Amino acid sequence: MIYEKAQKILAIGNICDRCLGRQFARILPRIPCEEKGRIIKKFFALEAGKSYGNDKCWLCNGLFLNDLKKIRSAIKKKLKPYEFKTFLVGVRLSDEIVIREESLWEKVGNEFAVDIKYDIRQELEKFITENFNAKLNKENPDVNVIYDIGKYDVTVHSRPLFIKGEYKKFARGLAQTRSEKYRQTVQSIIAKPVVKVTRGSEDVLHTVGREEKNARCLVWRPFVLEIKNPKKRYFDLKKIAREINKSGKVRVRKLAPTTKDFIVDLKAKKYYKKFRVVVEFENPVRDVRRVEKLVGLIRQQTPLRVLGVRPERVRHKKVKSIKWKRINNKRYQFEITCESGLYLQEIITGDSGRTKPSVSELLGSKAKIVEIDLTDLIFEGESYGKSDERIQKRNEEKTVKKSKGKIQHFKIHEKV
Ligand SMILES: [Zn+2]
Repeated sequence: MIYEKAQKILAIGNICDRCLGRQFARILPRIPCEEKGRIIKKFFALEAGKSYGNDKCWLCNGLFLNDLKKIRSAIKKKLKPYEFKTFLVGVRLSDEIVIREESLWEKVGNEFAVDIKYDIRQELEKFITENFNAKLNKENPDVNVIYDIGKYDVTVHSRPLFIKGEYKKFARGLAQTRSEKYRQTVQSIIAKPVVKVTRGSEDVLHTVGREEKNARCLVWRPFVLEIKNPKKRYFDLKKIAREINKSGKVRVRKLAPTTKDFIVDLKAKKYYKKFRVVVEFENPVRDVRRVEKLVGLIRQQTPLRVLGVRPERVRHKKVKSIKWKRINNKRYQFEITCESGLYLQEIITGDSGRTKPSVSELLGSKAKIVEIDLTDLIFEGESYGKSDERIQKRNEEKTVKKSKGKIQHFKIHEKV
């Protein structure tokens, strides 16, 4: 059986030891294919009285004899900038080689053979394991290396890096995520030192909810920073946190590595948010108690200011409570707790009737937002993190100083 098969193969044309031996790979698999090919060729040389060469292989076209060295050095060079502990390697063959291999199998069968692709992949797995002190991992490798034999091209996909954490934002006028309009954002401040150390190609900030550009975020907001195609993936997160916190505008804590699944959990979270807003009314407020009617269901169409970016949609979400403080007869501070998914500014302004009811509508006076801050996130009835009391207090003091009217008392009214 082996004899006949080998004879047939040798009769087709020049074949390298490796390609010949590979047709018998499953017999005594510990013996390398090259050695098997050599043994078979020697046997037939004795019988035929002529030797069989190793070059000009019609099947692989010198892939193992000549190209393997080049492939290895190309992979080595390409992988050099990457830091990884696990890898996966794949091979893309040219159609011609695949067709030639299939035509051989049609003639002689493949019951003992492994295919070229498998053979070369094993070779490269061994090479990477030994040269980079890394382990093969099929499920979730740090890097995925693909060698295209036809194009002589290596591509490396480095698994994105996910870092979870929480942030607070102390500056107004700072948008949350990067866009063409804004150069410095919460995202850019958090991502900058991470991109620098990882040398990633792109960063994405995933967060629980969003805060508006002019709102501060005085409660710890959970986020995940995604870094695409990182070169370095093991580094000191405490150092990164210190770098970010130097900005003075954004502060982070609890930085830790995480996985993609965590983002899904993060985005699915339902919660209530509490915000504090200082509002200036066009006319003196006569009966502020009317804002109690805000508690209940709010109907909100996508605000006009974001309509170009977000699709038109109607939301029905709850306002759970409202408290107020009078600063003067035209200026009030409100503290509102509402369901996630509501746009905050519009709860005050009414957005030309697109948000109903609104503070402006209930008090029958045009309302302008002076200051707005997110102060708490409440997940399933539990306060996520108390906002920084010190900052809250300072903010209140500032508000008092700014308002022109005399403040007799700062009594808090509440309706829940
Ligand atoms: Zn060959």
